[in-house]
Amino acid sequence: MKILVTGGCGFIGSNFIRYILQKRETIEIVNLDLLTYAGNINNVIDVANDPRYTFVRGDISDKMLVNKILKAHKVDAIINFAAESHVDRSILDVTEFYHTNIGGVLNLLEIAVKQGINKFIQISTDEVYGSLDDEFADEKFVLNPSSPYAASKASADQFVMAYHHTFGLPINIMRSSNNYGPYQFPEKLMPILITNGIQNLPLPIYGKGRNVRNWLYVIDFCEALFNVLEKGNNGEIYNVAPYNEFNNNEIAHFICREMELSEDLIQYVPDRLGHDLRYGVNADKISSQLGWKPKVGFAAGLKKTIRWYQGNESWWRPLLKNATLDNRILSD
Ligand code: NAD
Repeated sequence: MKILVTGGCGFIGSNFIRYILQKRETIEIVNLDLLTYAGNINNVIDVANDPRYTFVRGDISDKMLVNKILKAHKVDAIINFAAESHVDRSILDVTEFYHTNIGGVLNLLEIAVKQGINKFIQISTDEVYGSLDDEFADEKFVLNPSSPYAASKASADQFVMAYHHTFGLPINIMRSSNNYGPYQFPEKLMPILITNGIQNLPLPIYGKGRNVRNWLYVIDFCEALFNVLEKGNNGEIYNVAPYNEFNNNEIAHFICREMELSEDLIQYVPDRLGHDLRYGVNADKISSQLGWKPKVGFAAGLKKTIRWYQGNESWWRPLLKNATLDNRILSD
């Protein structure tokens, strides 16, 4: 099978490329990535010489380029990770979110229909359901995005469904909770706390630290995606999440304990505009239909993640100059 992976130099995409090349000998991957501030060619340096892997630098909105890649590589499936993914950046300027998260997806869909692609998987997010009190949204739950980022992802999901219903494009959408693990750009909650901890710098937490997220180890997400690629029923949306809900205070305290840091380092900073309090998805469908279950418990995943950042300073130190918006963090 030949797969076009877009955004494969980002956090989840790079983990997935490594995962699937190990998992299936017959897989060939073309990685199309624009290498924005969040994309890093070093995330996939270890597979660069694999004959089953090709990298192309470019934009998913570029019609000619995407057409050319699909034809030249006889691509069977597209997995779209490419996105602007930072909520705070979407609040400051939505232009690139509109360009990539909506326009780019539409371009991929148009070409996928014309070229008869066998599978199109859109990587979406639990944020499309908006902030929830204590309920867990299933895949039929109303979309109620709050941030410009989440609105752009929800729009893309609607277009993906429309291309399935109108043109019969074989699609799946995966709505995942917060991922954490190796190779996450140090502007997101876990890596900023861990890399600041390594440097003995303050650990910034938004507001009162009460925002709740459901933390999924990135390799568990890769396994869920692999299941959807191999067995997903066309037209289905799959939520992906463990039941690992923690608020940001709890995360900061876990990290302090694990890294033997003083809790005095925790510093509360002014909250993000419109900060969603809690996301919650029900992932029973992917478990019952495809047999997926997360394997990495939160304590083990956090330990692995901390060890990875401790052992890979040469990876994250050069990224710090692009990683902050006045040292503000994300919790998603
Ligand atoms: P990321 O920001 O780490 O990576 C995004 C990648 O997309 C980068 O390599 C970037 O260079 C590339 N890119 C951006 N615009 C592009 C364009 N126009 N053309 C080609 N490439 C482009 O993101 P991530 O955290 O790996 O997230 C991947 C996907 O998963 C996103 O669609 C995101 O919405 C979704 N998601 C992420 C999480 C999470 O916790 N990280 C949770 C749920 C869903």
